[in-house]
Amino acid sequence: MKGINDFLQFSLPTIEREEIEEVLDTLKSGWLTTGSKVKKFENEFAKYIGCKHAIAVNSCTAALHLALEAVGIKKGDEIITSPMTFAATAEIVHYLQAKVLFVDVESDTMNMDVNKLEGLIKRKCRNGRKRKLKAIIPVHYGGYPCEMDSIMGIARKHDLKVIEDAAHAFPAYYKERIIGTIGDITCFSFYATKTITTGEGGMIATDRDEWAERMRIMSLHGITKDAWKRYTSEGNWYYEIVAPGYKYNLTDIAAALGIAQLRKAEDFWKRRNQIAEIYKNAFKDLEEIEIPGVKKIGESVEGSIFDQVRHSWHLYVIKLNLERLSIDRNGFIDELKKKGIGTSVHFIPLHIHPYYRETYGYKPSDFPVSYKNYKRIISLPLYPKMAAEDVNRVIEAVTDIVVKNRKTRL
Ligand SMILES: *Cc1c(COP(=O)(O)O)cnc(C)c1O
Repeated sequence: MKGINDFLQFSLPTIEREEIEEVLDTLKSGWLTTGSKVKKFENEFAKYIGCKHAIAVNSCTAALHLALEAVGIKKGDEIITSPMTFAATAEIVHYLQAKVLFVDVESDTMNMDVNKLEGLIKRKCRNGRKRKLKAIIPVHYGGYPCEMDSIMGIARKHDLKVIEDAAHAFPAYYKERIIGTIGDITCFSFYATKTITTGEGGMIATDRDEWAERMRIMSLHGITKDAWKRYTSEGNWYYEIVAPGYKYNLTDIAAALGIAQLRKAEDFWKRRNQIAEIYKNAFKDLEEIEIPGVKKIGESVEGSIFDQVRHSWHLYVIKLNLERLSIDRNGFIDELKKKGIGTSVHFIPLHIHPYYRETYGYKPSDFPVSYKNYKRIISLPLYPKMAAEDVNRVIEAVTDIVVKNRKTRL
């Protein structure tokens, strides 16, 4: 019998000697806030992604907020995203007093359904109400890249900006292109549970100089230091406030963690991918469970999705085929907990939360694919630190619960 100390956490960061030494070095240097480590982290991240500008901030939420501000989102504008996401993706739209329009997801990937995206925009055009539509925020759910060719095509046709919520998608690839080089601006998260972490933190990637400059200025009180170069009589204490900005800068302590984590990102991914593969082989014949990362329309390439995209495997989300089970999702999670396995649910769709329900008058059935899948999803533990026996424990627990609760077919 496993004791309470053997509880398998849903998520754990990998913090090793390299991270600790990098942070110690920062602590000893006496420079704790934004400085040379942040600069180094930004430079190394930009090199990794192959983007022109990488701007480190203290969260992905901050990154998304700065991105919308930089592209000029204003009161009354409309922004499209999908409801199968975290609070941050839509709250930042409200920071700028703009409005969120949800587009439902596809059932297999849980990413924005591009047909429904096109449908929404077409309806707006027909009614002559496209004027306020300004941007699309695709969310790469779990780390599986959205249909970026279609999304970029639609966006360019209708003059919409694309701000990617890539909180789950580092490092992920869409048709050979790494996420961070496709949309207008891409936002990454280094929250403690994400694929690489700085405790709290985020990164903005873009190729556009003027947006990068605006986001950098707005990330630190709207202050510009360039002015002192022009007024040579002033010292370097001089600064000017050009807009009421925010306090979104990353600390050097956090960046130190990021520098060490970034160097391991590919190894972390390899281990995540390995575990995902083990899960796939263990669960693929269980008819009571639908496994992730298998896109039905992309299966032609010898059943492999990896010719099309590279999943970051931030999340491993199984979907229960509820009609084949005598237990529901919540019951399944309770059983896993009894067996000492931590899980999570990503996500409670935004449109069923009180704020969105009350503000927009949404019903659960307004985005039926999100709502239906919400009732059947469970995120299983998947992180590089998991030992082979941890992975086996998860497999045995899931299989055991399925076998015990399987509906016998006539
Ligand atoms: C974690 C997350 C965010 C927010 O990231 P923070 O760094 O915590 O602000 C945004 N979007 C999605 C989809 C997330 O999962």
